[in-house]
Amino acid sequence: MKLGALEAGGTKMVCAIGDETGKILDQVSISTLTPEETMPKIIDYFQDKDIEALGVAAFGPVDVNPESPNYGRILDTPKLAWRQYPLLSTLKEALAVPIKLDTDVNGSCLGEMTYGSAKGLDSVMYITIGTGIGVGIAIGGKLVHGMLHPEAGHILITPQTGDEEHCVCPYHKNCLEGLASGPSIEKRWGTKAVNLVDKTEVWELESEYLAQAIMNFILTVSPQRIILGGGVMHQEQLLPLIRKKVQEKMNGYIRTPELADMDHYIVPASLNDDQGILGCIRLAELSLK
Ligand code: ADP
Ligand code: ZN
Repeated sequence: MKLGALEAGGTKMVCAIGDETGKILDQVSISTLTPEETMPKIIDYFQDKDIEALGVAAFGPVDVNPESPNYGRILDTPKLAWRQYPLLSTLKEALAVPIKLDTDVNGSCLGEMTYGSAKGLDSVMYITIGTGIGVGIAIGGKLVHGMLHPEAGHILITPQTGDEEHCVCPYHKNCLEGLASGPSIEKRWGTKAVNLVDKTEVWELESEYLAQAIMNFILTVSPQRIILGGGVMHQEQLLPLIRKKVQEKMNGYIRTPELADMDHYIVPASLNDDQGILGCIRLAELSLK
């Protein structure tokens, strides 16, 4: 079965063709400019590919409620050209196939649950730490939507004294994204994260902030596994520090086999940065059910 996948990101649109086994047959990347420039290229790509369905994982905020008249519309994003853009209905009109859409991070969560390191589990969190911080959540096998969709990258954390000035979030003084995303690392330390490999204080602070957030997520959602992806997680020294700090902060408050085995509880993304595209493939398959 030929399935289409569109990972709609703020800097690039990844279009791919795959099948239900998770095999990716073709993939291209298109720069995210304005809808007028970018959408025709996306439609062009899929038009002659004979796909049976399309799955879309989109940057947010986006209307993810299939019952809503605005399903698949980008909402009030800081990317002004895309504000209120009817992404799903434009694709539907052009391609005339079933389409299922979710957030980019829910897409990655679904990709890992279907093909990756959360296979067989039904309550999972996927956290991306990159240009922003986003959190995809599945509970009982269902991707969580609720009122809109979770925006758990913006939960408040306790900053180190004086560190609020490094917060890059225009809305909050001390949210996780503002203090632990790639751009905030760059603002605080004066150079890109990739150049800070040997500075232990960078990763001590980064892991402290992420561990605070992850502890709150564990206590609120009770996921069976947590997957960490995104550019910043390419720093391999980070994951062991996060596991250790989460363990310390929990301080034995709850005891489960999962928490006793941190190495398999908090894990890296496992699909070579294809978790988003593979989630879209699964969304496409689900749109046919
Ligand atoms: P996006 O979030 O835009 O989809 P990424 O997940 O690649 O893209 O995140 C980009 C951010 O991650 C940038 O802030 C960049 O500095 C940071 N980053 C990318 N690669 C690395 C790396 N190897 N080590 C540390 N930080 C990285
Ligand atoms: Zn924020």
